[in-house]
Amino acid sequence: MAADFFKNSLKNLDEAGRVGKIDSEVLKILQSPERTLEANLPVRMDSGELKIFKAWRVQYSSSLGPYKGGIRFHPESSLEEVEALSFLMTFKNAALGLAFGGGKGAVKVNPKEMSSGELERLSRAFVRGFYDVFGPDKDVPAPDVNTNPTVLGWMSDEFDKIAGKKTPRAFTGKPLELGGIVSRESSTGYGGFIVIREILKFAGYPSSALKVAVQGFGNVGSHLAEILDESGFRVVAVSDSKSALYANGGLDIRKIIKDREKEGRLTKNICYYKNVENLSSEEGCEVISNEDLLKLDTDILIPAAIEGAINASNAGDIKAKIILEMSNGGISENAYEILAGKNILVIPDILANGGGVAGSFLEWLSNRENRLLGAEKEFKKLEEYMANAAKNIWDKSLELKTNLRIAAYVVALERLSKEIKNKI
Ligand code: NAD
Repeated sequence: MAADFFKNSLKNLDEAGRVGKIDSEVLKILQSPERTLEANLPVRMDSGELKIFKAWRVQYSSSLGPYKGGIRFHPESSLEEVEALSFLMTFKNAALGLAFGGGKGAVKVNPKEMSSGELERLSRAFVRGFYDVFGPDKDVPAPDVNTNPTVLGWMSDEFDKIAGKKTPRAFTGKPLELGGIVSRESSTGYGGFIVIREILKFAGYPSSALKVAVQGFGNVGSHLAEILDESGFRVVAVSDSKSALYANGGLDIRKIIKDREKEGRLTKNICYYKNVENLSSEEGCEVISNEDLLKLDTDILIPAAIEGAINASNAGDIKAKIILEMSNGGISENAYEILAGKNILVIPDILANGGGVAGSFLEWLSNRENRLLGAEKEFKKLEEYMANAAKNIWDKSLELKTNLRIAAYVVALERLSKEIKNKI
């Protein structure tokens, strides 16, 4: 899967290069990362044993600014996966018009089996392993799967210790007290909301009471579901890795989020649904499987969990009219054609989930200027970045008579192309 993930991501480059008539030398350069780094991280476990963990940082492109992308802790991480994700970061940052290049990092580890002390030592070892290549104008890591503000706080602190001075701008996604910003935690979900709102407008959909199903109820899925619910959409289903909650009249997302803390996961006990007038609240709320969630008769389907959740084996059963791809690589390459054949409008990951890195960009700017904008201005700025990106990509898709995925890559390639040509 991981090897194919990179190979398949490159197909977007080929197709967008052709459709956008991009210089072949630029495409050649963008087919591989500028630099790939591997480290072996020694970590003392609580038992006293010394373990060595494999880690990578892939610096894909610095054409538009410092390398930028998260660090993932996962037992199935591999170099190929990090390459694919750093490729996506490059095109996401370029498509959004941010002054960032693209990078990504990972440690092959199961963090769920580690104590907090072990995790802290691993996080600090990661910075020691790659210290030379990190820095606020060189390479700026952020959180990703299984890493969070606490982990980024340890990393930032370790970097400062080695550098002998405070450099908050070297990492984003930090805790507030270490220079993080208020909007970062929900910026990916919020960005997804702005994108779907704008695309619905362009595509001529009524924005009220559309039915939505969200697969994945973590950071991205839960924030987005909550904003959609509060904005008048009817969120009929949400899921975690075990099961999904479904209510045709709409779920009460805020209540579910609140009680999920206690419950630990999505169960029948917290299957809260709305009493909507004129709707017979058809059979209340039920627990269904993750696969069934994908097949629900909704207007919008949002994969916000894992790579390849929508693939050749289930794409044919999807009934939604629009897919907002919030997870990175949420739709596998072999599903694109099936979805296109069913006239499903796909909003690609590099646009849909760009709010996260747009939030990181704001944090990086705030740290550089040593000035906090405050939540209201931060969300206003995020709205501006995401609405502009949605408009540019929508217009490009009309201009080139192509889908939004290829249009997003062309917008990115046009920006990258200018910079790369100046350097070769
Ligand atoms: P998370 O770990 O907080 O949440 C993931 C959710 O998916 C959880 O609810 C989990 O139970 C569920 N899940 C896991 N395996 C599943 C499976 N096999 N089937 C169905 N559900 C499953 O992660 P997140 O930060 O919300 O990220 C979700 C996706 O969005 C990832 O692809 C990530 O790369 C992407 N993304 C995240 C951010 C961000 O800022 N967090 C930014 C851009 C992209």
